[in-house]
Amino acid sequence: MNPAIAKALILAASLAMVVIRLPHGRRSRGIRVVKSRKGGQEIVLLTLAWLGFFIPLVWVSSSVFSFADYPLRAGPLGAGVLCLVIGLWLFYRSHADLGTNWSVTLEMREQHRLITHGIYRRVRHPMYAALLLYAAGQALVLPNWVAGPSYFVVLLILFAFRVRAEERMMLEEFGDEYAGYMAQTKRLIPGVW
Ligand code: SAH
Repeated sequence: MNPAIAKALILAASLAMVVIRLPHGRRSRGIRVVKSRKGGQEIVLLTLAWLGFFIPLVWVSSSVFSFADYPLRAGPLGAGVLCLVIGLWLFYRSHADLGTNWSVTLEMREQHRLITHGIYRRVRHPMYAALLLYAAGQALVLPNWVAGPSYFVVLLILFAFRVRAEERMMLEEFGDEYAGYMAQTKRLIPGVW
C-alpha cells in the first residue's frame, strides 16, 4: 500500500492530539501551581516524550529514517487506525473529566480536587492508557522500525518511572480519599491491572 496513506494518518492524528490538548494547556497556565515535583527525572521524561511525539513527524516530512522503512499492509493499518481512534477518544474524555486538575508534569494546582468520576471511575490513569493506545496505533500505522514505535517506547519509559511517584504524591495530598480510590480501581485496564 502507498505510504502516503500512513503519512496522512499520522499527520491527522498528531494534529488531533494537539487540538484536544491545546485549550487545557492554555487554561492550566492561568491556574497557580501550589506543589511541584518537577525534578531532573521529570525533565528527562518530558524531553523524551516530546522527542517520541516528533520523530513520526520527521518521518512524515523527510527521508531521514528511510533506511528503516518496510511495506505498509492493510491488516496492521486497520488495527492501527482503530487504536488511534479509541486512543484519541480516551484522551479527549480524560482531559474533559480531569479539567483544571491536569498538568503536563507532577504538580498540584490551586483548589486541586481528586477526580473519581467519569472515565476516572474505571481506571486511575486513563490519560496514560489513552497515550499508550494512541502510540500503539501509531506503531501499527507507520511502516518504519524506528519512527513507528518511537512514541510507544518513550511512553512506556515515562509510565514506568512516573506512575508510582504520581500515586505517592496523590496519597500525600488526598490521604485516605486516594487510598480508598486506589482500592476501588486498577491503574490502566479496568478490572485487570
Ligand atoms: N495519571 C492521570 C493524570 C495524568 S495528568 C491519567 O493518566 O489520567 C498528571 C497530573 O494529574 C498529576 O500531576 C496530578 O496532579 C493529576 N492527577 C492525577 N490523577 C488525578 C485524579 N484522580 N484527580 C485529580 N488530579 C489527578
